[in-house]
Amino acid sequence: MASRFVLIENIRDSRPGKMSEAVEEEVLLPRHIKYAKRIMGVLPTETQGLDTSRMTILFFGVSGLDVLDGLSEVSCQDKADMVDWIYAQQILPNKSHSNLYQCGFRGGSFIGAPYQPTSSQNEVNISYNTSHIAMTYTALASLLVLGDDLSRVNREGVLAGVRHLQQKDGSFCSTAEGTENDMRFVYCACCVCYMLNDWKGMDVVKAAEFIKTSQSYDHGIAQGPLLESHGGSTFCAIASLSLMGRLDSTFSPAELERLKKWCIRRQQTGFNGRPNKPVDTCYSFWVGASLKLLGIGSLVDSAWNRRYILSTQCSITGGFSKWPECHPDPLHTYLGLCGLSLNGEKGVCPIHAALNISQRAADWLKTLHTNT
Ligand SMILES: [Zn+2]
Repeated sequence: MASRFVLIENIRDSRPGKMSEAVEEEVLLPRHIKYAKRIMGVLPTETQGLDTSRMTILFFGVSGLDVLDGLSEVSCQDKADMVDWIYAQQILPNKSHSNLYQCGFRGGSFIGAPYQPTSSQNEVNISYNTSHIAMTYTALASLLVLGDDLSRVNREGVLAGVRHLQQKDGSFCSTAEGTENDMRFVYCACCVCYMLNDWKGMDVVKAAEFIKTSQSYDHGIAQGPLLESHGGSTFCAIASLSLMGRLDSTFSPAELERLKKWCIRRQQTGFNGRPNKPVDTCYSFWVGASLKLLGIGSLVDSAWNRRYILSTQCSITGGFSKWPECHPDPLHTYLGLCGLSLNGEKGVCPIHAALNISQRAADWLKTLHTNT
């Protein structure tokens, strides 16, 4: 324990200025609520490349609003329309079940499928009509945030689609054809299985083994074996094991201790994702959540963490950027808010660190699991 405190002292000593000189900034909650509502409706032209990932943008908006306790500002009709739009992106099994490996959720309507939010069987045969595991995760998460009971989710199709994406080494691809496989998609697969309360979507032993072999020589965790450790992949790995209930059985106490040290060393003024890289708002979540799941969230210097996140807050439009003086974007806005939540910020709701949704939405999921 003593060495950790010495480490934090050293970081403090190396920082410019003193906390007493800092101007106490406030989190501009109403502006961020406006920003979250805006990205749910429209994005600037330069973001058109995100059209295939609209499900994720919706998640950042709707879950961001939830973390800001602002969902009451969305009408019941708009919430119902959003739930219908999400279900309209579900790829359902056909009669012969020959497309099970493609089932799950698309990122949007870009493929040209007809709008069918209530259909129970998708008979439309469209080329390249395949799910994406990150879209399936954010679709289910957004449905929970919106209070849906997941009753229209085709569990057989979703779980078969996820299972098809697991590779021999235990990792996951993102889609059925021609994509990379790494820790990001292992995390998405774990979230999907956890939310559906059914682990038939993966071989958990193989997935845990993939995570263990991805711990790098410096004790952080990489996107895969023999790659560079990174704050994002470290979160994905720790959260996956936490959702599986295998964190303590996968890593030895000594390995976990070294992993904790790698994570706490990411805190500079804010958090960075790798040694010698600049700090960035999103790592207040990626690394902050990792520390919380490892049971040492209290070692975060919350004053410095808050100060950095607020330096990336846009006082004109709302939202957060990765660095000060940059344009805000949906991802850094959502993860900045989650970082503030982990920091205990007043007015920002508590989150479930492993699922990356509000604790309220996670409690709703627990109710669903209890009642089914
Ligand atoms: Zn970032």
